Amino acid sequence: MHDIWNPWHGCVKCSEGCQNCYMYFLDRVHGRNGAEIYRTRAGFNYPLQTYKNGKYKIQSGELIRVCMTSDFFLEEADEWRNKAWDIMKERSDVKFFLLTKRPQRVKQCLPPDWGNGWENVFFNVT
Ligand code: SF4
Repeated sequence: MHDIWNPWHGCVKCSEGCQNCYMYFLDRVHGRNGAEIYRTRAGFNYPLQTYKNGKYKIQSGELIRVCMTSDFFLEEADEWRNKAWDIMKERSDVKFFLLTKRPQRVKQCLPPDWGNGWENVFFNVT
């Protein structure tokens, strides 16, 4: 089961719903600071990673939740997001489920060829 893709980690609290952020809690438990935002090194291109036999680690038809330890539309991730869109486009056979608490930023962050939306990308505003 490959159900999570975290292309970046860390976040900025932006609403009351962030008060008890689980990522901040877990980072604190592990002696880290959830406010430190970084592009994940090994995980950034995860949907494109393959096994030795050439098969994708994430199989066709799987549903992947994106950014469970951050927010996909986080301002601090603006420089990384286009590449993440490219990866989702390349894996149009995989369904990506994006979580955000920043619906006001969605429109300005969509890729130029978004049109009426991509069939394999879904949003969840929490
Ligand atoms: S947006 Fe999500 S990840 Fe970011 S601080 Fe709020 S609850 Fe945590």
